[in-house]
Amino acid sequence: MASLSSALRLSRFGSLASRRPAFSLTAKAGFKTDASQQLAAVAVPEDHQSHVDPLAFDKQDESVLERALKASGPRNTWTREEIQQIYETPLMDLVYHASTVHRKFNDPSKVQLCTLLSIKTGGCTEDCSYCAQSSRHKTGLKASKLVTLGSVLRAAREARDNGSTRFCMGAAWRDMHGRKSNLRDIKEMIKEVRGMGMEVCVTLGMVTDAQARELKDAGLTAYNHNVDTSREFYPSVITTRSYDERLNTISNVDQAGLSVCSGGILGLGEQKEDHIGLIYTLSTLPSHPESVPINTLVPIPGTPLGDNKPIEFKSVLRTIATARIVMPKSVIRLAAGRITLDDEKQGLCFMAGANAIFTGEKMLTTDCTGWDEDKRLLDSWGLSPLKSFEKDNANPEMTEDAEEKQQSALFGTERKFESIPKV
Ligand code: SF4
Repeated sequence: MASLSSALRLSRFGSLASRRPAFSLTAKAGFKTDASQQLAAVAVPEDHQSHVDPLAFDKQDESVLERALKASGPRNTWTREEIQQIYETPLMDLVYHASTVHRKFNDPSKVQLCTLLSIKTGGCTEDCSYCAQSSRHKTGLKASKLVTLGSVLRAAREARDNGSTRFCMGAAWRDMHGRKSNLRDIKEMIKEVRGMGMEVCVTLGMVTDAQARELKDAGLTAYNHNVDTSREFYPSVITTRSYDERLNTISNVDQAGLSVCSGGILGLGEQKEDHIGLIYTLSTLPSHPESVPINTLVPIPGTPLGDNKPIEFKSVLRTIATARIVMPKSVIRLAAGRITLDDEKQGLCFMAGANAIFTGEKMLTTDCTGWDEDKRLLDSWGLSPLKSFEKDNANPEMTEDAEEKQQSALFGTERKFESIPKV
């Protein structure tokens, strides 16, 4: 494979990209990005803004992609314009560079297998226009109560025995308000599944900081709460809860010490600017989400988006590749709609930096590729499943010692640069 420097020389992007001033070092300690400012409204302390720009020095002659390729860690100072420049890179170059970044920050041979179980289906009061579970749409889906602990453990055991290492449980609720007994039951589910050696994620709608802490104390690994799309397009999709309410829950989850799982859905009728806006929101959070699910719309008859045409695959690939470059250590998760992608398209997604899949019998209400099929798929691409808690954020190209040396070369030995933040 070509070296990074030769890749940069070969890159058409480097010569085409517009030049813009680099970030100032003086902005590091107390900066707030646009999205961070949004979150400031929900009381995120400045010292929680863990991402700094590891290459924030005057390099005005470098393109944004060149800087991204050289970075030694994540940063959350991205501008929309920078993300747009990356997103608009010729697709072959974009995938190549995303693959380079992926290899720099992650083990490219590993894919996390994750299984999702609906623990409370349908009857949701929200109006998400893509969702079969909203009580406002006539989808014919019957609402059910919270499932039993026994059925959760059976499903988790089956998932674990088939190689899944993360088990996610989803409930169709707006929030957890007034659901004390449900919360108690779910904490028990979390404790038991965690005891089976699996990573555990739940998605229960909006949560307060106290509820997030309770879930963390029960052993929860991650909490999923998608922002779905860009801030601008969001009101065309959902009207019953605001974008800021979503960010507020994400902040509560983050503050509780849980891993944040947050991503979006492509194919809602949005434009490419909204893919850029989605990535902008996620990548300018105080910490990048540990996990970024990329869903494609599965049109459900009876929902307002039931007749949407499928999104072009190249837009999906472009979004994955851009997300990989902008959030180099996050797990990029192929989620709903993956079943529509053939082996070759999925292989391209892995090449572009996707490193997790949902596998098993079902997503929440839509079909999912089964374990046997996925084992064959991974094997055919020379990939293997990630173990529980194995996610290796280490940079194989850069040891801590090398990072220190690089920083001292850049900033001088007297300048103490904080350690590269983890996501
Ligand atoms: S996506 Fe979630 S919050 Fe929205 S309607 Fe469906 S279950 Fe409710």
